[in-house]
Amino acid sequence: MNKVFKMNLEQSNKLYNRSLKYLVGGVNSPVRAFKSVGGNPLFISHAKGSHIYDVDGNEYIDYVLSYGPMIIGHVHPHVQETVVKTLEKGYSFGATAELEVMLAEKVCAAFENMDKVRFVNSGTEAVMSAIRLARAYTKKNKIIKFAGCYHGHSDALLVAAGSGLATLSMPGSGGVTEGSVKNTLVANYNDLASVEQLVADHEDIAAIFLEPIAGNMGVVLPTDEFIQGLNRIGKEHGILIVADEVMTGFRSCYGGAQRLLGLHSDITCLGKVVGGGFPVGAYGAREEIMNCVAPLGDMYQAGTLSGNPVAMAGGMATLEVLEKENPYDFFDDYAKKMQEGMLSIANEKGVPLNVNRFGSMINPFFSEKEILNYEDAKSCDTEKFADFFWKLLEGGIYIPPSQFEAWFLNTQLNDSKLNQTLEAFSKAV
Ligand SMILES: *Cc1c(COP(=O)(O)O)cnc(C)c1O
Repeated sequence: MNKVFKMNLEQSNKLYNRSLKYLVGGVNSPVRAFKSVGGNPLFISHAKGSHIYDVDGNEYIDYVLSYGPMIIGHVHPHVQETVVKTLEKGYSFGATAELEVMLAEKVCAAFENMDKVRFVNSGTEAVMSAIRLARAYTKKNKIIKFAGCYHGHSDALLVAAGSGLATLSMPGSGGVTEGSVKNTLVANYNDLASVEQLVADHEDIAAIFLEPIAGNMGVVLPTDEFIQGLNRIGKEHGILIVADEVMTGFRSCYGGAQRLLGLHSDITCLGKVVGGGFPVGAYGAREEIMNCVAPLGDMYQAGTLSGNPVAMAGGMATLEVLEKENPYDFFDDYAKKMQEGMLSIANEKGVPLNVNRFGSMINPFFSEKEILNYEDAKSCDTEKFADFFWKLLEGGIYIPPSQFEAWFLNTQLNDSKLNQTLEAFSKAV
């Protein structure tokens, strides 16, 4: 059943029914399943620039962007050319190629505290490896994470993990043993006292993991006090700060949100934009930390397809475009206009709304109060969100099918697309 009556979604619905037989819930990642907005997911036929097209020929401005990676728009000519050229030379070698060195040089140059980097195949893998590295380096066991922050689906971090889980109302996950989460401590975002309490109660803390800008409970910004407090706690107690910049890396600025916020991270995790739409994750740190990783150190981590040339080419070409075009002022300006536009429309119609944004990430929350943590985010009207989502689709705007996912901007947007977005917003709200 689809809630949209004006749109033709016949082919999507057909494919969805076919997919249900062999794919679990018809999808390969749960947030794609439209569970929290009702109806059937769209099937996508292709995408180009700022737009995505479904199999029934409907056209949308894409604010999902594959959940972040497609920051310079879909099928950018420079990425396309670089990837195709690379593809012609072979798909995977199981040996190091020049592109890996080139991308490593670029990534390390963009982060202050990164002398060396290890490429992996996903954000999940990057953060999972960062846990092991933090433990290997500090010889301590426990980690702190924040409620509502998502760090991929590895066992130890599947506690109070935001968007995908919030949408499905799962407290954690089946199949995760007590053993694998017993060393995970959960604090509240923007609540320094909750961190200080954990640090006072536990000796054995290796690292604090955080999204410097939270994007998986909707966009939630850290206060300056919170960031400075984490810097201080890390330093005072020999606890590593792990910045999970899988979402924010190269999206907030050329480099990480940590630089803009003044967060002193010890280990940084990347994914999404750094692969430009191909499966790439990365973790990097100062030399003394990274030298713990095999083959130099005793912390084992490996991957058959890690540093895959085609994926490296996608990431490399994407970073080249970002470096050259430096679109970050444009993003800020677009997001600001979008925020102002939405607030003024909502105000006119008497709809309670809060819009959080940072760089090229933005999120309207249907709530009166300011959204500063996971509890606040969960208090929003998710029922209203479902209708809002479908009406936006009707207006040609594709956003994530969840109140708890960030909307992403890409470089191919412009004022006329902003106006179309706000018009659809006005009808939907
Ligand atoms: C998306 C995301 C991950 C997981 O990355 P995958 O590539 O989906 O495994 C981890 N951390 C953050 C902050 C993310 O947004």
